[in-house]
Amino acid sequence: MTALRDLVAARIETTGPITLADYMADALMHPEYGYYATRDPLGMAGDFTTAPEISQMFGEIIGLSLAQAWIDQGQPSIFALVELGPGRGTLMADILRATAKVAGFIDAAQIHLIETSPALRKEQAARVSPPRSKITWHDDVSTLPNLPLFLIANEFFDALPIRQFSRATHADGDGWREMQIGLQDDALVPGLSTAAPITFLEHRLSDTKAGDVVEHCPALAAISEDIAIRIAIHGGVALILDYGDWRSLGDTLQALLNHAATDPFVNPGQADITAHVDFEAIAIAVTSTNVDTRYTRLTTQGVFLERLGITQRAKTLAKKLSGDALSAHIAAHRRLTHPSEMGSLFKVMGLYPSNAPTPAGLEP
Ligand code: SAH
Repeated sequence: MTALRDLVAARIETTGPITLADYMADALMHPEYGYYATRDPLGMAGDFTTAPEISQMFGEIIGLSLAQAWIDQGQPSIFALVELGPGRGTLMADILRATAKVAGFIDAAQIHLIETSPALRKEQAARVSPPRSKITWHDDVSTLPNLPLFLIANEFFDALPIRQFSRATHADGDGWREMQIGLQDDALVPGLSTAAPITFLEHRLSDTKAGDVVEHCPALAAISEDIAIRIAIHGGVALILDYGDWRSLGDTLQALLNHAATDPFVNPGQADITAHVDFEAIAIAVTSTNVDTRYTRLTTQGVFLERLGITQRAKTLAKKLSGDALSAHIAAHRRLTHPSEMGSLFKVMGLYPSNAPTPAGLEP
């Protein structure tokens, strides 16, 4: 029994059942007991691993694609190099190393990291050492500077709290029943609210039937809108990578503890809780702003990395390796790109100004 579980239980006793989004917000980001707030969950010793932790090639390729976009947009002499949810800082460190050879890029970059976890900010400070500017941390995107934005988000959106809805049957009334977390015999248990119509799910009435589950991430829409407006005004590009799909259907909530699945409602704060990203929701948010920012077609991570030359890079690195190190390197390349590993499940979408070329690797 954890302190956070007791806090959540006390809250439910006072206010009644809470939404899944409220539950996830506490479980992941409670300032004292939240999962991310209290630890570094990444790497083999942690609960999960991510693409930049698997191989340096990932960050190198991302860095060069950001630099290409910067060149395509006329090499703005000062810009914000931004990462959302930088974890251990490995990806940003690899981006800075790979782009050091691109004339003028690093000199023009101001580093801005969006991170709420004090534990992970420390890890980032230890790994990211920009040669020119200092690092500025932000709690959210609203305080970013008014500059061209070259932004990367890898496995950030999947950590944002979601609400989950089940399409009601006619007998229940029209609309949707929302998952709520309540208390039963002192245990945290998910249940369903009574049915109600939901305006932001109207576009899902055509592709769902009674009992189907759909998810909605309120923060994803707000963040995507903010980024789209900044790119329209100041220029830049956003590369969003995550596991998920276009218009996701079904329950994608998942909790991981020590690399194994666990019940998300037992011991909040101890396990990582995520959901697949619905990339259509990003596209809808961008469109809703009515600004001149475009989104690219959704591309699989495998295709994106192949188009940007990961295999060429892998061969170059392989020349210096032998034995176990070479085997690990070949396995890492496969893990990042192969359709049966991260290659297909993970997707990439880019946001860019309508007067700039499509970001490299994401062309139609
Ligand atoms: N991008 C990294 C880490 C992914 S883990 C990688 O690829 O390895 C998710 C990251 O997002 C962590 O750094 C976590 O602390 C951060 N994060 C999660 N929710 C957040 C929020 N609401 N605001 C800011 N950062 C958040």
